[in-house]
Amino acid sequence: MKINSVTEVLDINSLGTTLIHEHMRTRSEAVAVQFPHLYNDEEDFELAKIQVLGAKKHGVQTIFDPTVMGLDRDVRLMERISKETGVHIIAATGVYTFNVLPSRFVANDIDFLAEQFVRDIEVGVQNTSIKASFLKAATDAQGVTPDVEKVLRAVARAHLQTGVPIMTHSHPATETGLSQIAIFKEEGVDLTKVLIGHCGDTDNVDYIERVLDYGVFIGMDRYGLSKVLSTEKRNETVVQLLNKGYETRMFLSQDYCCTTDIYRPNHKKKDVHPDWSMTYLFETVLPLLRENGVTEDQIQTMMVDNVKRWFGATV
Ligand SMILES: [Zn+2]
Repeated sequence: MKINSVTEVLDINSLGTTLIHEHMRTRSEAVAVQFPHLYNDEEDFELAKIQVLGAKKHGVQTIFDPTVMGLDRDVRLMERISKETGVHIIAATGVYTFNVLPSRFVANDIDFLAEQFVRDIEVGVQNTSIKASFLKAATDAQGVTPDVEKVLRAVARAHLQTGVPIMTHSHPATETGLSQIAIFKEEGVDLTKVLIGHCGDTDNVDYIERVLDYGVFIGMDRYGLSKVLSTEKRNETVVQLLNKGYETRMFLSQDYCCTTDIYRPNHKKKDVHPDWSMTYLFETVLPLLRENGVTEDQIQTMMVDNVKRWFGATV
């Protein structure tokens, strides 16, 4: 099975150690277009390069970057970082909105939106030949608003046309993972191709198991965002789920944003989230998990093999 990275066509078996959810950069795309003087593209590139090279030192060969419309996706930036570091980067298509869509997509139907996602996957993103290889939708505390539902259904339909898997941003406190699953099910999606992101933001194992009951993958993917949930609690939850036998359906990642304009200037990010980085998992989390009895096989399953399962390849 083949997969498109931002620089080449890869065999799914060559992805190696994979971070499933990290961002090279996220920012307000409308502000970036209208007030570009507020940003420094060269600095963003350098900071991302440092983080990706750090991850590479820990053996990371592939990074999935689910930055899509709404977070100012820039596949040329991803391409440059990948070429410079030698780490594979996999780009996504979809829309990141918690509430409304821009008028161009309000004025057109679900299938029109799905068609644009399919174009990103089959032709290329932003008038390049760089192809997206997974789909992304978001449902936060606002729940499934009419426009969010439109995105979820369009993502489902683009998945059915192309076969590429789906990743979501969900909000466990309001159990939106289950609302996403309900819509994907209605659209006829094979739920084993769905990854419900951010499940690790809760230690409510009962909720996580209700999500897992549908056969989906889950993202324990925000290590370092300790203000949302501490590493200790994230780890306790992961260990409990591993003990229940869910290792083949979990991903560990950090949802790290090399730069994000939620925190500008950049040093503010460290003030709020001192642990957060693209290497925190390797420096702190995995050693703690090993101390708690997690085996090398289980780590290999979560960091290397599950990505192949998510794409439907045999492991
Ligand atoms: Zn993210």
